[in-house]
Amino acid sequence: MLKVENINVYYDAIHALKDVSLEVKEGEIVTLIGANGAGKSTLLKTLSGLIRPKNGTIEYEGKSIVKRKVQAIVKAGISHVPEGRRVFPTMSVTENLELGAFLRRDKKAIQKDIEHVFELFPRLYERRKQSAGTLSGGEQQMLAIGRGLMAKPKLLLLDEPSMGLAPLLVKQIFNIIEMINKEGTTILLVEQNANMALSIAHRAYVIETGSVVLSGDAKELQTSALVKEAYLGGA
Ligand code: ATP
Repeated sequence: MLKVENINVYYDAIHALKDVSLEVKEGEIVTLIGANGAGKSTLLKTLSGLIRPKNGTIEYEGKSIVKRKVQAIVKAGISHVPEGRRVFPTMSVTENLELGAFLRRDKKAIQKDIEHVFELFPRLYERRKQSAGTLSGGEQQMLAIGRGLMAKPKLLLLDEPSMGLAPLLVKQIFNIIEMINKEGTTILLVEQNANMALSIAHRAYVIETGSVVLSGDAKELQTSALVKEAYLGGA
């Protein structure tokens, strides 16, 4: 579904991604784990067209998307839920969800999808008229994911959905990510919470200072010495 080969991304003099290659197959949850500043968010931004790589290729459903505009990438089925939630604070929960469907014209289907998001996140239904800025951190994260789903993506890019959430809520969010995947959406999940991410992912990539240093089956990586040492607190 998605094939990234040897991309290099720079922020002026900073070489943020170094010859990164990665693949996501239809139906998978693939996780990209790494420490602060490793380049995880940069990779997602590059995939969604917000940043252009200096070189390398990005193929989605067999076609190059390296030069496509952000909107065209969304339309093709890639939806990006950025780090830090970024909901529209003065708009209601429902309005935020509607905005996630801004490229769609199928009003009835949009309504149905809003209802589906409310089924996934009953808490959002309870708060549907409330302005998004007054939601708790966890609720805002739910809303950000829900808004991402409203684009009806085939591939959902999630940037650190567990950030700043209490453990119980993290578990809830990860359960829902699994559910979304089981309903047919392919997922690329960026996480610092390696343990949780590896527990729901099929495959994983480990990124360190802009380079992929390890990749493989998620269950196998969970037992790898490097991952245990660096990302699972030596457990
Ligand atoms: P975190 O988990 O802390 O968000 P990350 O793995 O997502 O980390 P990135 O945000 O992709 O890391 O950053 C990768 C590197 O690029 C870092 O060294 C960061 O300082 C740098 N960087 C990111 N955005 C910019 C920018 N707009 N201008 C300059 N440097 C940047």
